[in-house]
Amino acid sequence: MGTREETSTALIIGAGIGGLAAAVGLRRIGWSVTVLERAPIIAEVGAGLTLWPNAERALDVLELDVGPRTIPTISRGNVRTPSGRWLRHSHPEDVGVLAIHRADLHDVLRKELPEAALHTDAEVVSVSPKGAVVCRSAGEEHELSADLVIAADGVNSITRRSLWSGDPVFQHRTVWRGVTPSGSVWPVQESLTLGRGVQVGVLPLPDERVYWFVMVNGDRPNQLYADDRREVLNRVGDWHHPIPALIATTPEDQVLHNDIVDIDPLPTFVNDRVVLLGDAAHAMPPDLGQGACQAIEDAVVLAACLASGDVSDGLKRYDEQRRARVQPMAEAARASVRRTSNTSWLAHFAVSVAARLIPPAAWRKATAQWSDWTPPTLPN
Ligand SMILES: Cc1cc2nc3c(=O)[nH]c(=O)nc-3n(C[C@H](O)[C@H](O)[C@H](O)COP(=O)(O)OP(=O)(O)OC[C@H]3O[C@@H](n4cnc5c(N)ncnc54)[C@H](O)[C@@H]3O)c2cc1C
Repeated sequence: MGTREETSTALIIGAGIGGLAAAVGLRRIGWSVTVLERAPIIAEVGAGLTLWPNAERALDVLELDVGPRTIPTISRGNVRTPSGRWLRHSHPEDVGVLAIHRADLHDVLRKELPEAALHTDAEVVSVSPKGAVVCRSAGEEHELSADLVIAADGVNSITRRSLWSGDPVFQHRTVWRGVTPSGSVWPVQESLTLGRGVQVGVLPLPDERVYWFVMVNGDRPNQLYADDRREVLNRVGDWHHPIPALIATTPEDQVLHNDIVDIDPLPTFVNDRVVLLGDAAHAMPPDLGQGACQAIEDAVVLAACLASGDVSDGLKRYDEQRRARVQPMAEAARASVRRTSNTSWLAHFAVSVAARLIPPAAWRKATAQWSDWTPPTLPN
């Protein structure tokens, strides 16, 4: 790998938030990018997302304005019991977190890219460390190559599983999510409701929509339910207003269900000309609300590292900086799972008391610790 004398090229596997952010970042430094996405359309799932100030700063570096599509949120600062009693109230200004519909963030990223750079129905079936990729599209296989392959192919990354090791690890939790127009229940107050081994989040989104999630402990991965909405209502249908109403008004076919999986820390994110980014590199439980934020940070740091000269050098710096930043965070997210999924009466009591009694300043400090990050700049 040499320095950037001609236009450098990157193949990006996956058009999730990480892959698209990487494509925008590399185009900002003059690279030519091709994004390969196996799905027939480029889209995000119907759920909400919290964007922490670190991700907001990273999006600023990419010159992307998500402001009009967001609203301030608190993220775990308004805590309730299943009967509706408030354990804690916070103010959105305390932490500067934004709530956005995933599809809106995706749309903002996608609009920055030329159509010709995006290829759907393009499933990567093999990747070599030297940057050769085999991609299956419309039943045919194509060989492609580039100066760099960015694997942003998610927690089940075929790239990571073939060139590194590291199968996803089931975190003994499963989650249902949905977005519904709030209708008669508006205005909705944001909340995180804590039961024993069950958490329910309610987050208002712009345009009077509401994102909800129900996360429960589970022993068996890949369990399927005939009717997901009924299953969720069976579990929390008698919890406080507006939880049952929000679930009941979400169209059944738009209730998402998936297990919580993450990966063990990798010794490196780089293998010759292939680099991992986003969940492929560091999937973590969603407890800190930072997975997608970290994918956006990855994209900005990768672009900054590659902008400043030799590609091998740049990848080395990306690898060092990103592992040092994200791996302790992933470990903290796992620790949070251990704490909040303990179903003993005592553990649940301790979590509830902590939610009620931690002073606002201590809560702010603990909550904001992962968003304390200064982004690099990109050359003009
Ligand atoms: C319940 C829940 C709540 C969450 N809440 C938040 C939150 O509030 N804030 C936050 O920051 N994060 C949150 N996250 C984490 C966040 O969703 C992920 O970290 C983020 O979506 C990862 O993006 P990605 O682009 O790395 O991967 P993905 O979104 O998984 O995208 C990977 C893409 O690659 C494609 N792909 C896969 N294999 C191939 C292949 N072989 N060939 C071609 N394409 C391929 C896939 O189709 C997909 O489009 C949450 C996660 C969960 C589960």
